[in-house]
Amino acid sequence: PFNIMADLIKIGVFPAPNQPLEPDIAAKICEIHGFTFEREKRDKDKGFHKEVEVIKEPEAPKQEPEDLLKTRPPIVTIMGHVDHGKTSILDYFRKSKVVSGEAGGITQHIGAYQVIHNDQEITFLDTPGHAIFSDMRARGADITDIVIIVVAANDGIMPQTLEAIKHAKKAKKTIIVAINKCDLPSSNVDRVKSQLAENGLQTTDFGGDTEFAEVSALTGKNMEDLLELIALQAEVLELKANPKATARAAVIEARVVPGRGTTATVIVESGTLKVGTPFICGPYAGKVRSLINDRGAAIKSAHPGMPVEVIGFEELPNVGDHLTEMKSEREAKSLASERQEAQRLVRLKPQHRNRMEDLYSMVRDGGGKAQLKLILKCDVQGSVEAIRKAVLAITSEKVECTFITAAAGPITESDISYAASTDAIVLGFNVKVEAKAVKSAKSASVEVKLYSIVYELIDQVREAMLGLLEPLT
Ligand code: GDP
Repeated sequence: PFNIMADLIKIGVFPAPNQPLEPDIAAKICEIHGFTFEREKRDKDKGFHKEVEVIKEPEAPKQEPEDLLKTRPPIVTIMGHVDHGKTSILDYFRKSKVVSGEAGGITQHIGAYQVIHNDQEITFLDTPGHAIFSDMRARGADITDIVIIVVAANDGIMPQTLEAIKHAKKAKKTIIVAINKCDLPSSNVDRVKSQLAENGLQTTDFGGDTEFAEVSALTGKNMEDLLELIALQAEVLELKANPKATARAAVIEARVVPGRGTTATVIVESGTLKVGTPFICGPYAGKVRSLINDRGAAIKSAHPGMPVEVIGFEELPNVGDHLTEMKSEREAKSLASERQEAQRLVRLKPQHRNRMEDLYSMVRDGGGKAQLKLILKCDVQGSVEAIRKAVLAITSEKVECTFITAAAGPITESDISYAASTDAIVLGFNVKVEAKAVKSAKSASVEVKLYSIVYELIDQVREAMLGLLEPLT
């Protein structure tokens, strides 16, 4: 069973019990569990839900047509205890095996780089340590396929080695062990192997299923073998992506570069990211102005598995956010403002949202008199008075009804924020909902009900107050 509460807390959302989730957040939770989130149209409602245009971030289809899938490079993270040689291994590959083959020609530090081994690309995440790893995992954006656990042959396993093993196992990653510093006279490979075996990593020599390489990042000994093991494991994993799909990429680094503005390094997950592509990334819109590869060269497009620095962010994105290609800048902007509004309202702490239907369960669950708070907006002052009187005349032992406001005029954004802060339901009689109000009502999950027939309105309120409405969910 899923523990949604725990998942929510992990992504920094602290909902009250029974609080409806923002669509955006629901989508994230779905993503963590490998589902695709779709919004249901609530035709049952007399509300505005039907008319609202919902711009959805295109979802990468989970099941891509087989013939469109192409092999993609593995994404490798190096983890291990401090000083055991993570940086040295990364530097060794970077210097000796860069894609262009021009040793020493690499200057850019964009957070990841690629090497070519027997015509096969391998992508290394350049940020050693598991801080970033668990951070990205928590956001459901962990893109690593293979984890290299580095252990110094002279030191043996240390606390951070164990932690790294724990992380990698929990994330169900393919693990390759690199026993480093094998050039040292004090190295003791057998000891390291038995220590690792005690911790669940048994070498294939001893009937286990973990590949080991005995290397030296200093002398370069067996470093080719390590690459070969990575390539083999990648083959076993059958890593594939559709380069023709909607482009999607994960942010692994983000920074502000003087003279260049906001840039972020992403790793393309599917599709092909091209210059000129409009996108959404977290709550921000953007458009790819330029792409820079791991050698500092401007490129036109980036394929799956490739790390690339993207220029064209509106604001600094978060590590772990996904960049998704959008059809147009307009749609990207619109989705961005929807998400920003949702964030703003989450920050305003919209706790439990009342819905008329919820009164039913509140009444059933007991706990004193339930409160039905209403914000009423009508076309004319005459209807305001008539409806208010009729509603207040309804008597219920279980529900107490109060009007936060009752006035003539359309439903505005401020009605919605008022409803959000007082936990009220908004009723409209023969009025329109302003466009901005539609948006914020959606983001804040404020219930808005529209009526054009007086007795329907009164009846529904009565039913709610008598606890007769069935919950919709
Ligand atoms: P990190 O903290 O895991 O990134 O470790 P570093 O890559 O910074 O390496 C720590 C120290 O070990 C440095 O002084 C390296 O020069 C040294 N070192 C790394 N790899 C080797 C190796 O294979 N052999 C020897 N003798 N020293 C190494």
